[in-house]
Amino acid sequence: MHLPVPGKGELLRLVALGHAESRADLARHSGLAPSSVSLRVEELIEAGLLQEEGAGASRGGRRPRRLRLAPQAGLLAIADLGSHHVRLGLADLSGTPLAVVEHPCDIAAGAEPTLDWICDRLEELVAARGDGLPVRGVGIGVPGPVDPAEGTVISPSRMPGWSEYPVRAHLSARFGVPILVENDANLMAAGEYLAWPGCENLMVLKVGTGIGCGIIAGGRLHRGRGAAGDISHVRVRADASVMCSCGHSDCLEAYASGAALMAALAAQGVEVAHPSRIADLAADGVPQATNLVRGAGRLIGDVLTALVNFFNPDAVVIGGSLSAAEQLIAAVRGAVYERCLPLATRDLKIDVTRAGPDAAILGAGSLLLDAVLADAWVEQTAPRP
Ligand SMILES: [Zn+2]
Repeated sequence: MHLPVPGKGELLRLVALGHAESRADLARHSGLAPSSVSLRVEELIEAGLLQEEGAGASRGGRRPRRLRLAPQAGLLAIADLGSHHVRLGLADLSGTPLAVVEHPCDIAAGAEPTLDWICDRLEELVAARGDGLPVRGVGIGVPGPVDPAEGTVISPSRMPGWSEYPVRAHLSARFGVPILVENDANLMAAGEYLAWPGCENLMVLKVGTGIGCGIIAGGRLHRGRGAAGDISHVRVRADASVMCSCGHSDCLEAYASGAALMAALAAQGVEVAHPSRIADLAADGVPQATNLVRGAGRLIGDVLTALVNFFNPDAVVIGGSLSAAEQLIAAVRGAVYERCLPLATRDLKIDVTRAGPDAAILGAGSLLLDAVLADAWVEQTAPRP
């Protein structure tokens, strides 16, 4: 098999992700000759993308000089869009968040006005907190199915006015840098993966207003053709009693999502404004809320029994605003441990998010690094005269 010769982008990536700390590490990981590594490293240092600490301190000695990403190399700007809010983050090129803010935001306003508004807020954040550094890549997570090749949103049930909208092209015209458009649960999975060392196969559920799931298989995000992991429209009942936002009846989302539970609570005379309030009510022991989250956990767990047997993950991780409801997590565990094959559950962990509310921003940072480093700017970066 012929492998392409690793370029400067791949070397920068090895350092940014902490896989290499010295020229010797880079030679070992890349397979390049030490002289070729040194040539590329010198160019990356000249371009202001890498720094080498300890240079000159050990002339002729054995201690290798330590490489790290230059703090001034640039920024990633990231938006994690939910149904009613957007979380905006700036990260360095290694994906480490530097600043995170949250704003209310209604995606029902439609694609173009919502994206323009988000771009304005991102530019404000860069101006206020970006230290004058250049933005090298922009990432956005959306609560709907994304065609990864085109960067378009395809038939989302909770995003009126967004179907087929060219999100990547819109953001690219505005920022002129590599753009990542990704399903929100996929971003959460990519971020959560960083917090579960030793776990190469994960199912990461986002249970908020809607229900989503991202899959990490063999240490990589598994997108399929874009729809992989979408468990929200699995049929969980057969009595056609509740219509789902997708147009079919009796989907998991129609019974177990935050939106469904809010409607069920309202029917019992308890009005709440956000799914996170349901978790609060359940924590306070309000019986309508505890019954509903327990039932939702049982339905989600029933769907997961098939998926856990089929995929046999190392961990099932649950995030999103309803993951704060202990009864929901306990009901998921109960269903899966009771019904799955012993071999599938023997070492299985089922737990709440470790990466927390910034999981999607962390995930976008790690995925964007690939897009940014694959981009021509790294390869074309010439040493300054
Ligand atoms: Zn549905």
